[in-house]
Amino acid sequence: MATKNNTLKLKFDSARKYAPAPESKAAAKIDAKYDLFINGKFEKPLSKKYFATTNPANEEKLADVAEANAADVDKAVKAARNAYEKTWKKMPAKERAKYIYRIARVMQERARELAVIETLDGGKPIRESRDFDVPTAANHFFYYAGWADKLAYAFPNRNAHPLGVAGQIIPWNFPLLMAAWKIAPALATGNTVVLKPAETTPLTALKLAQIIQEADLPPGVVNIITGAGATGAAIVNHPDINKIAFTGSTDVGKIIQKAIAGTAKKATLELGGKAANIIFEDAPIDQAVEGVINGIFFNQGHVCCAGSRLYVQESVFKEVYRKLKDRLATLIVGDPLDKNTDIGAINSKQQLDTIHKYLKIGLKEGAEMYEAPCELPKKGFYCRPTIFTNVAQSSRIAQEEIFGPVLTIQTFRTDDEVLEKANNTPYGLSAGVWTDKGSKIFNMTTRLRAGVVWANTFNQFDPTSPFGGYKESGYGREGGLHGLNAYVNLV
Ligand code: ADP
Repeated sequence: MATKNNTLKLKFDSARKYAPAPESKAAAKIDAKYDLFINGKFEKPLSKKYFATTNPANEEKLADVAEANAADVDKAVKAARNAYEKTWKKMPAKERAKYIYRIARVMQERARELAVIETLDGGKPIRESRDFDVPTAANHFFYYAGWADKLAYAFPNRNAHPLGVAGQIIPWNFPLLMAAWKIAPALATGNTVVLKPAETTPLTALKLAQIIQEADLPPGVVNIITGAGATGAAIVNHPDINKIAFTGSTDVGKIIQKAIAGTAKKATLELGGKAANIIFEDAPIDQAVEGVINGIFFNQGHVCCAGSRLYVQESVFKEVYRKLKDRLATLIVGDPLDKNTDIGAINSKQQLDTIHKYLKIGLKEGAEMYEAPCELPKKGFYCRPTIFTNVAQSSRIAQEEIFGPVLTIQTFRTDDEVLEKANNTPYGLSAGVWTDKGSKIFNMTTRLRAGVVWANTFNQFDPTSPFGGYKESGYGREGGLHGLNAYVNLV
């Protein structure tokens, strides 16, 4: 009997194991040290300080990057102001467009390098950075380059004037893509930029700085400075900034709102989320299960619009739960550079600690926890995909953003009940609906209080469609025509 069990186990294990298929690191040229990109050049920080950025998959240091202080921020803002007044706002729009197209093309040429660095610095699977992050980032530049000389069509019978200098602060979950989301529409509308990537993932933004140099963008139009919260705060508080574009936590979003209250600074804030993914009994169950996996587990749950709350109609709960567990058992957690990896490394030790804290909270609150039976690498920051059932609507794991591969499941009977539960959250960034009925889709999408609602799919992005939240998920829209709006004064 023991032998038979062992044979079964062996069969099961070998079915799940693939030969390693790591992407080569050779494509990624990472310098030992990076300075601040100000006025078209890499400049030593006035602060004289640097900090390390590490690979969360193996805890090895990748590079030292400069830590900008208030004087460095001031220098970057002055460079952006000068470029705005003397060059960029005066340049014919079709000339501006050429530069933006050029950035997009150089990004495409260097796509492999960008993807490998994104994965090394952030921990996300190479499949994601190669097939989603980098191409979508380049697409944003292409898309907004197209708008640059067509603003008269975007805003008929109005004149769209740039705002001036935009301060842009981005998080660690989509470092290059968030930089593209922010920089492309700002440039297309004639603004100049001071951008700060997150402290744990600065490398692709610094590569983008090199691409911008290569594209010969006039000096000072885009400045990229690195640092942590204090550097971000210095950007927010700088008196010569006209607009703040922020993506990050709701807590920091609130600090920014307070800091700019009473000033003329405009803001768009894209903050946290706790998306409801709703499966009705008439849904195509296999596709829905795959959509749930894609919505929360791929990308380590490091997505503000992640479908972290699953609502399943009671009659199909057993089937959905069984299929989810089966699928979870096949997910590969491990080396993010390996093309077979589904779930890479958690971005930092701090984030892994936060996720573990929530797992404990879930258990303490009486929920039932199921962890995928996968092995985790010995070194680096990893977390097993985890499902909680028997979850109360009021429990913290169902209310608070965990930002990890952790899913809560609750059941419902009627449309009204699930709407009530799905909307019962301080957030409102995204939601998903799985059903065979078009009328149900319309009924749900009009009543769900979320900025983006996906129907029979999840986590789909396109530069042409706007993205943004309700309630504590922030305000303003990025992407599409709406994304231009955030960078212009209409007169
Ligand atoms: P997350 O929880 O996703 O790390 P944060 O909101 O802490 O989100 O960070 C998002 C970005 O905001 C990062 O670039 C970070 O350095 C920056 N940041 C952190 N604190 C502040 C602050 N007080 N003012 C401005 N930016 C900040």
